[in-house]
Amino acid sequence: MHGQGAKIQYFRACAAQAAVQKPSRSAARHDILQDVTTSTLETCTAGPDSTTQAPDSSKAKRVLLLKPRGFCAGVVRAIDIVRIALETFGAPIYVRREIVHNRFVVNELAEKGAIFVEDIDQVPEGARVIYSAHGVSPAVRQHSKDRSLKVIDATCPLVTKVHVEAVKFAKQGYSLVLIGHRDHDEIEGTLGEAPDVTQVVSSVEEVQTLEVPDPERVAYLTQTTLSLDESRDIIHALKMKFPKIAGPHSQDICYATENRQVAVKNVAHNADLVLVVGSNNSSNSNRLVEVSRNLGTKGYLIDNSEAIDPEWLKGVSTVAVTAGASAPEILVEGVVSYLNAKGFGEVDEVEVMPENVRFGLPPEIVQAIQSAPKTTAASV
Ligand code: SF4
Repeated sequence: MHGQGAKIQYFRACAAQAAVQKPSRSAARHDILQDVTTSTLETCTAGPDSTTQAPDSSKAKRVLLLKPRGFCAGVVRAIDIVRIALETFGAPIYVRREIVHNRFVVNELAEKGAIFVEDIDQVPEGARVIYSAHGVSPAVRQHSKDRSLKVIDATCPLVTKVHVEAVKFAKQGYSLVLIGHRDHDEIEGTLGEAPDVTQVVSSVEEVQTLEVPDPERVAYLTQTTLSLDESRDIIHALKMKFPKIAGPHSQDICYATENRQVAVKNVAHNADLVLVVGSNNSSNSNRLVEVSRNLGTKGYLIDNSEAIDPEWLKGVSTVAVTAGASAPEILVEGVVSYLNAKGFGEVDEVEVMPENVRFGLPPEIVQAIQSAPKTTAASV
């Protein structure tokens, strides 16, 4: 896509390296069904190879395009669900809250006939509604049932994992500490699983003032899109305060959040500026900016190329570009083109680690595809 650049890879071999392709938009109905449902989850855990040299920053103006960047498996799945639902059932399709936190994606789906609502009350009785990738509380599920809505659940499986953990700990009599941001849709949903025994904390300071009925029976969980460093500090503070605290079997922060942060950590020191493509309300995108700034490299969150202030580029020779998990590649391309026009002629893609993760579609969508007329090619 960007002519002149080299591709720089500095990752270790990954066990889950087998490529899994995104479903072809022009694929026929059965191809899509087979393609999107066969591989449910493959996660690469290989970290960056510290023995490999990062790019030399002494060269003239250039762009370091980080990889992995942009769409994660949960976002691809959620967007596919809305597209397939529109294709199969026709417009309008109601979607509770933003399907993913990206304005461009939401506007594009709205143009195709998706109607985004804040609350279930705004969906006509008996209509079809899709839950966003961030998940919903049991109260929302009940409300949908009371209104006889036809529900399609686009909750990311990695968010569902945290919900299941919350229910399990609550049933076992634990007090729950949920680490995350109170105003985020995901925390609202997870908190709703066990509201009577759950407290939300978002800082080490808040841990100090926590009070629980039995300090020997406490468990913690986290939002999936937090800063790795910040959550590590909060978990450490919790372990100091409640030495017997229980936690999830595997970290709740998802692979996509982790991989994008690790990529910034590995490259930020070779850049004068880090640009993160993503929307203001995207948690994982904001965390990428924080990672860069914490390493001493200026970082900005931008919705698209129009948000770039030319002042930021003064005296800058190397710009690292990445994107949050809900930001589409077309916006990244726009940013790189803008930088090209500003004299950043060389584009090097820096692959810090491979990423091959895919999630299957929910049964409501699989059934819808199966029962669609065979002559219809579902172009999603
Ligand atoms: S960022 Fe992580 S938790 Fe959120 S949708 Fe993507 S994979 Fe799922």
